Amino acid sequence: MIPYARQSISEEDIEAVNRVLKSDFLTQGPVVPLFENAIKKYCKVDHAVVTSSATSALHIACMALDVGPGDLVWTSPNSFVASANCALYCGAQIDFVDIDSVTMNISIESLAAKLKLGKIPKVVIAVHFAGTSCDMRSIKRLSDQYGFKIIEDASHAIGGSYINNKIGSCEFSDVTVLSFHPVKIITTGEGGALLTNDEKIADRAVLLRSHGINRALTKSDSQNKPWFYEQIELGFNYRMTDIQAALGLSQLERINEFVDKRLMIASKYEFMLSPIGLKLPELSRNKGSAYHLYVIQIPDISEVQKVLIFKGLNSLGISANVHYIPIHLHPFYKALGFQIGDFPIAEKYYLEALSLPMYPGLADKDLEHICFSLKTMLNQKLN
Ligand SMILES: *Cc1c(COP(=O)(O)O)cnc(C)c1O
Repeated sequence: MIPYARQSISEEDIEAVNRVLKSDFLTQGPVVPLFENAIKKYCKVDHAVVTSSATSALHIACMALDVGPGDLVWTSPNSFVASANCALYCGAQIDFVDIDSVTMNISIESLAAKLKLGKIPKVVIAVHFAGTSCDMRSIKRLSDQYGFKIIEDASHAIGGSYINNKIGSCEFSDVTVLSFHPVKIITTGEGGALLTNDEKIADRAVLLRSHGINRALTKSDSQNKPWFYEQIELGFNYRMTDIQAALGLSQLERINEFVDKRLMIASKYEFMLSPIGLKLPELSRNKGSAYHLYVIQIPDISEVQKVLIFKGLNSLGISANVHYIPIHLHPFYKALGFQIGDFPIAEKYYLEALSLPMYPGLADKDLEHICFSLKTMLNQKLN
């Protein structure tokens, strides 16, 4: 079966993990800070706090920005549920801003129009869908005008760039969150990171990552009582282990190779699929994308036809996927009051979207098999 996404693990990665397994510390050892430093350097950002997942990083990012009951958080409906759940963990209210039909990222026009209505969110979570950055300059301009904070959910996008910087530099945001889940650009098994140029946010994130306890902050007392530690606020165990960090550090060395390979696969898809009336990602428009996903849109396809194509591909050994079921249409969110029709562009996009396999190890012969199978099936659909 050709999966839609897959990690790429080298002998060096395995060696790096083995070294930790034979060392003194499996967690909270020396490798976590090494990985954090390497991410800082790669993304050119002042602080990196690695976590157990992007979900936990999003949670403590919201907390570090003081999101709480009575606050409003906005994000894109075209994302994984974690982009919205984090606000609800904090007791805040969530709302969505519809996407742009060209970029599939949050629509700047819709954002500006929604802000004009007068209810101002505390935080906007901008999701870099499929690895291509949102229009961060415009979002920052609106944030300066209306006074909201910005979190970039860059779970798809480490390795990508925006204007002159790597995604993760936080040039136009307060915090950027990364994911190291195996389907993402680099992996630690489970894992994530919170990046920021604000020391206060970083300190708060470190505190919240580990139960609200920070030994460094209680140093004066520890001079008298060497065993001393103090819980300052209610935190969590959202730590990453040294085993995971070793894998991440090793993976990070190959990140440019991974992204180049993804771009090459996208170019090959474009070459092979362009004559058949699909809406394909525009490579020229997606400059700097990390190409986490390759999403095609099949114009005006019915749900029944899409199921047939999906299952047909599956029977030929190809696992496609769909990114994303709009968050507001999940039963949990509908129960909060969201409805079909609330974010029509995200909903129409969802009906037409299909994610084709995309990962660095995807072989050319598999790529050809995918394209040939898809073309055959689309021809059947049209006849
Ligand atoms: C994968 C993903 C997450 C969650 O990442 P985890 O590391 O699995 O918690 C959040 N947001 C987006 C956009 C994602 O794709």
